[in-house]
Amino acid sequence: MKAVVKTRKAPGAELIDVSVPEPGTDEVLVKLMTGSICGTDVHIYAWDSGAQVYIKNVPQVLGHEFAGTIVEVGKEVRKFKAGDYVSAETHIYCGKCVQCRNDQRHICETGRIFGLTCNGCFAEYFTVPERVLWKNSSQLPPEIAAIQEPMGNAVYCALGDYDKNLEGRSVFIIGDGPTAIMAAGVAKAEGARLVIMLGRHDRRMEIAERMGADRALKDGPGVEEIVSDITAGKGFDVVLEMAGSPEAVKLALRWTRIGGRMSAFGIHGEPLVIDNYGQYVRSGKKILPISGRLIWRTWEEVRRLLESGNLDISPVITHKVRLEEFEKGFAFMTQRPKVSGKVILIP
Ligand SMILES: [Zn+2]
Ligand SMILES: [Zn+2]
Repeated sequence: MKAVVKTRKAPGAELIDVSVPEPGTDEVLVKLMTGSICGTDVHIYAWDSGAQVYIKNVPQVLGHEFAGTIVEVGKEVRKFKAGDYVSAETHIYCGKCVQCRNDQRHICETGRIFGLTCNGCFAEYFTVPERVLWKNSSQLPPEIAAIQEPMGNAVYCALGDYDKNLEGRSVFIIGDGPTAIMAAGVAKAEGARLVIMLGRHDRRMEIAERMGADRALKDGPGVEEIVSDITAGKGFDVVLEMAGSPEAVKLALRWTRIGGRMSAFGIHGEPLVIDNYGQYVRSGKKILPISGRLIWRTWEEVRRLLESGNLDISPVITHKVRLEEFEKGFAFMTQRPKVSGKVILIP
């Protein structure tokens, strides 16, 4: 069978012939229907420093976002059977560590990460442990099913984990990547009064507006005044930091209203700088780090939103290519200026 494989610890990947893997006793064999390229896959493909943390062994099959059909199940698999239409959680939690025992499986450190620290799904067939499988509704189109995983990031980021009601709230999204675009749609569908995005790429900001952002502001001089005007200088109830630069984090914290919540989703390696710590403590602003998705609470919220009829996530899918044309798919993702949302791979 054909698979997109990282064959060398260097930029790129190859489409090569490999044998169909055997499912272990607690695993299933899945036939790929659709895959979706994640920003993380782009880092792995480009082989930058962010990717080298994950990939320890090559050859390794890329990809972690998918929809597919189970074709074979291991001896100990109980809840799934051949023919089931599935996707999967990327964090293959261990089930034993202190986080796993405290309902924090999404931040398990001893488990594996599908397609990052072990073989993934950009292949005609691949194996997945039963414990991370998610059964899709038969109504859900395969390209939408494949992006439930990143949509889960958007949902977790937008809804948070304790103050989930966005009804009547104001939401500010910093960043215009595909997950940020989906977060705009999620916030609006959940009843946010005002959804403002701060971005840099016209095409992506346009998609965010189509998905429900009331306004997408282009980053540049004067933008702080506009933001200040919009909120009468008070800031937003909820700010989603989805750009991942030290400046964006500072801006996010500044534009979170007193007592509001900032969801931290973007990643960078610099120190977290809070100008005046005492002032921060007194502000009651909460920083919520968003790592992956809550297992399975976020997945259930994704399902609820997709079935609600209030949210059409499809505009975020900008390209569909065949699996063997994966290089084209990665080129769409890395094209400058950035124009792509999610890129779907079809075998
Ligand atoms: Zn992903
Ligand atoms: Zn664990």
